[in-house]
Amino acid sequence: MTDNLMDKVISLCKRRGFIFQSSEIYGGLSSTWDYGPYGVELKNNIKAAWWRSCVQERDDIFGVDTAILMHPKVWEASGHIQNFFDLKRDCSSCKQWFKEADLGGDKNKCPECGAKLTEGKPFNLMFKTHQGPVEESANIVYLRPETAQGMFVNFLNILDSRHPKLPFGLAQIGKAFRNEITPGNFTFRTREFEQMEIEYFTYPQGSDEMYEKWVEERFNWYLNLGINPQNLRKRQHQKDELAHYALACTDIEYQFPFGFSELEGIANRTDFDLKQHEKFSGKEMTYFDDTKKEKIYPHIIEPSGGVDRATLAFLMDAYSEEKVKEETRVLLKLHKNLAPVKAAVLPLLKNRPQIVEIAKKISWDLKKSFAAVYDDTASIGKLYRRQDEAGTPFCVTVDVQSLEDLQVTVRERDTMEQVRVEIDNLKRYLLEKLTN
Ligand code: ATP
Repeated sequence: MTDNLMDKVISLCKRRGFIFQSSEIYGGLSSTWDYGPYGVELKNNIKAAWWRSCVQERDDIFGVDTAILMHPKVWEASGHIQNFFDLKRDCSSCKQWFKEADLGGDKNKCPECGAKLTEGKPFNLMFKTHQGPVEESANIVYLRPETAQGMFVNFLNILDSRHPKLPFGLAQIGKAFRNEITPGNFTFRTREFEQMEIEYFTYPQGSDEMYEKWVEERFNWYLNLGINPQNLRKRQHQKDELAHYALACTDIEYQFPFGFSELEGIANRTDFDLKQHEKFSGKEMTYFDDTKKEKIYPHIIEPSGGVDRATLAFLMDAYSEEKVKEETRVLLKLHKNLAPVKAAVLPLLKNRPQIVEIAKKISWDLKKSFAAVYDDTASIGKLYRRQDEAGTPFCVTVDVQSLEDLQVTVRERDTMEQVRVEIDNLKRYLLEKLTN
């Protein structure tokens, strides 16, 4: 199944309203995607799970939401203006271009038509635009290529407003933009994407242990949300892959159909970022250590993940096919916390007003506690299939018997097991299943 898993997932995403091609009615904008009704719920649930685990369940991490547009000096200090390049090679014959790092053996030969490629030329990945009505160099601003810098530049604001003690961190989720030379593999590499990043400030002594702790913590986050351990691995960067200031970096990689690829990177960035911003802003970026009565530059551990890549990995991992009575049942075995809809309420007969009325009432009641839907737009078999493909853990069916015994049938997505549950007890029953 892995051979065409990507095609199957892309097709399910369109069929069920998870992800659509952007501007499709105009032929689409290449490698740009829109999240549909189920897609946005799934993505929101992933972000909420991250926020809960990285901010709300801790008392040492503060959430922020910083601007996409920043002072251009930020990108000088961070090194993005000077160093955020990929090497690009062009084909003069078929007019295609390639990222040098993606080219296999012969980097001079066009993989499409065999003609000679140009030398690799540096291509800055930042999107550049102008702030205000005058397009001149003094007004240049960039769409941020990472959310991280918004946190470094707020380091002093957090010290002054929240008075945290080391170690502590900042976290944010937000859009980032990179003018990638070769985007592709569905939502894996795009030019507009979302990141979930933490900047964790810690004592220089022991920063390597803190880094190891974060690698484990972030790896387990994916496993706890149901990723198959066989599809997840850690890849430690070799010395020659590391940025000159970094002490260590590990990628958490998922086994996509196109091979193990990065979901998230965890790096020990030392004190590089704070010192750079001190140099460029003229503001002292230190922390006062009360115990030793001295100023220090904390080291920074940065777990930096992509929301869209995580979403794609959870979709890929959840996609399953089963043979049921000679038919193929397609389902998304999403973790219950991530499933876009937790319960679908379905009337067995939509021409019986009493059944419809009860089903609608149940769904309104469930909606107050979790994501629930009412659907009567097809036969029960079709409705089950749709909900299986959307990853809905529970279907609740109201039938003729419900009118007499005041019970409904609850069907579990993965096992297809059905049990009768009293309507009065339904919400408690589902909540228990959804929270355990
Ligand atoms: P890659 O090597 O795949 O280009 P990277 O090492 O440049 O990624 P980082 O700068 O570490 O990526 O960014 C942190 C995270 O942001 C990545 O792990 C990934 O999940 C996400 N990300 C980065 N670039 C993209 C992109 N073009 N499209 C989607 N997600 C991205």
